[in-house]
Amino acid sequence: IQWFPGHMTKARRQIEDKLKLIDVVIELLDARIPLSSRNPMVDEILKGKPRMVLLNKHDLADPVVTAEWVRYFADQGLQALPIDAASGTQVKEILPRAKALWAHKIESQLRKGINPRAIRALIVGIPNVGKSTLINQLAGKKIAATGDKPGVTKGQQWIKVGTEMDLLDTPGILWPKFEDQMVGLRLAATGAIKEEILHLDEVAFFSIKYMVQHYGTALQERFGIAEMPDDLDDPNQIVSVMEAIGRKRGAIVSGGKVDLDKASLIIIRDLRAGKLGRISLEKPTDY
Ligand code: GDP
Repeated sequence: IQWFPGHMTKARRQIEDKLKLIDVVIELLDARIPLSSRNPMVDEILKGKPRMVLLNKHDLADPVVTAEWVRYFADQGLQALPIDAASGTQVKEILPRAKALWAHKIESQLRKGINPRAIRALIVGIPNVGKSTLINQLAGKKIAATGDKPGVTKGQQWIKVGTEMDLLDTPGILWPKFEDQMVGLRLAATGAIKEEILHLDEVAFFSIKYMVQHYGTALQERFGIAEMPDDLDDPNQIVSVMEAIGRKRGAIVSGGKVDLDKASLIIIRDLRAGKLGRISLEKPTDY
């Protein structure tokens, strides 16, 4: 999606319509780049709704860095849970957390002698962060009938997550922040920007530079790189690492030279698929 101001206004209005129906928001971020995959206006848009953060694709992220992010969000009063929506890891933890966020309401209903209804939840996040995957994972085969609840827009469906939670079947789609070139590079490196808006070689260069800095030993061992850069600000040294990886991965043109475009493509595909190891591209200490 190419986001323009009109799209953002429409997306925001759609979420605000859904917010009227729901009790708890599930904010989905990419564990490898939690802040870069976060909508810049999310606090304003969600307006104090009880909310939890899920750090998705944790299977691809560096667990040590993810733990740092969990502490980072805790400091802001937000519970963050690392999950892997594709395999379902930790997805069972979502319901108890939603119940904890809504406990005060449930208790007050019980005090009034009312039978508490199921918690109504909405998943929000930027494109490609895993919203549909998570909805399907939570749904199993339990997609509820349409519009049998007051205030439900026609066509809006609720998915039953056990008996205690109802989930809106369409997520809230938010836009990422683009103002910062580094954010764009991180989004492209992780595959959040599907269309290659940025040049592949730039994305590969950024990724390799970050990996040399934070995962240097692993990179060196994996690709048998003889000499690692001693100066991160020397682009030639980073390109040398890209060439070494390209050579190892067969990105060679006639004459034995490395095809840097092909090497870049291979690096990005390997990175996105987790073939370079569990790598996070952003740390709380980067800010
Ligand atoms: P949406 O645009 O937010 O609905 O994203 P999708 O649910 O379509 O997911 C985008 C891509 O990410 C798909 O290829 C999913 O298979 C993949 N994906 C989603 N969750 C995970 C996860 O936890 N781990 C990994 N490795 N891939 C995931």
